[in-house]
Amino acid sequence: MIARCACGSVEYEATGDPILGVACYCDDCQAGSRQIEALPNAPPVLDPDGGTAYVLYRKDRVRCTRGGGLVRSHKLKTKTDTNRVVATCCNSAMVMTFDDSKHWVPVYRGRVQGALPPIDMRICTKFAPDGSKVPRDAPIYPGFSVRFIGKLLRARLAMMFGR
Ligand SMILES: [Zn+2]
Ligand SMILES: [Zn+2]
Repeated sequence: MIARCACGSVEYEATGDPILGVACYCDDCQAGSRQIEALPNAPPVLDPDGGTAYVLYRKDRVRCTRGGGLVRSHKLKTKTDTNRVVATCCNSAMVMTFDDSKHWVPVYRGRVQGALPPIDMRICTKFAPDGSKVPRDAPIYPGFSVRFIGKLLRARLAMMFGR
């Protein structure tokens, strides 16, 4: 899988199957996506329904293969482990990284080239903007779902056992 910024200067590559595709409607994702969209000439990040779609990969399977010097991390608050990584050449949202030991990397789905991996679930939908029409194309969860956490745990176990 290749994720490329709008102008093509920055690329991330991921190998193997994604852990899952997810659209998140939490307040932080909405604020983070809006903040990036507000940068000069930034391409859209939020879906029309207020969700932000990601494809989650294991951290050991994602790397920046091009334009590493052009990326910059944005934090919503000073005391957060979450970084939203932006390609400064064209202000495209690329990936999220975590300062703590989280073992996955969400790649912004809008940057994925070629066939898009499916959205397996929509989470934190109780925070979706008023009147937003959350599509019913995948299971919808008002908060973080057990299935979401289960998938992440399985990926962690696979990593621990060297698979
Ligand atoms: Zn760019
Ligand atoms: Zn979120």
